[in-house]
Amino acid sequence: MADDCLFCKIANGDVPATIVHEDDQVLAFEDISAQAPFHVLVIPRRHISTLNDLQDGDETLVGTLIATAARIAKEHGHAQDGYRTVFNCNRGAGQTVFHIHLHLLAGRNMTWPPG
Ligand code: AMP
Ligand code: ZN
Repeated sequence: MADDCLFCKIANGDVPATIVHEDDQVLAFEDISAQAPFHVLVIPRRHISTLNDLQDGDETLVGTLIATAARIAKEHGHAQDGYRTVFNCNRGAGQTVFHIHLHLLAGRNMTWPPG
């Protein structure tokens, strides 16, 4: 738990969110400002500020975030049409909440390159 971290507060239940999945390692909830018809954030319960702060041994946790996103996409019927997963790292890439989170976006066609 990091002081004043919004996503730690969501993980602890101190800030409400619409949870779509939770287990002992990870939590997934709806993005409050959805950028697609389906927009979920998948986070580790443990506070990690950015991808730059991953430690040796965190590979399994990051893999779990990705596998969880894939499972949620499938459960919500987005596997066939497709979906996008994104980690933004630091401000230059658009990161605004400094607790790592995997965006899962689906329900519309995506363009490339991203903005
Ligand atoms: P990023 O810009 O990659 O750091 O993504 C942060 C995301 O968190 C944005 O898409 C925000 O809309 C989302 N967000 C911010 N506050 C909340 C909240 N209280 N509940 C759910 N999502 C949030
Ligand atoms: Zn945090």
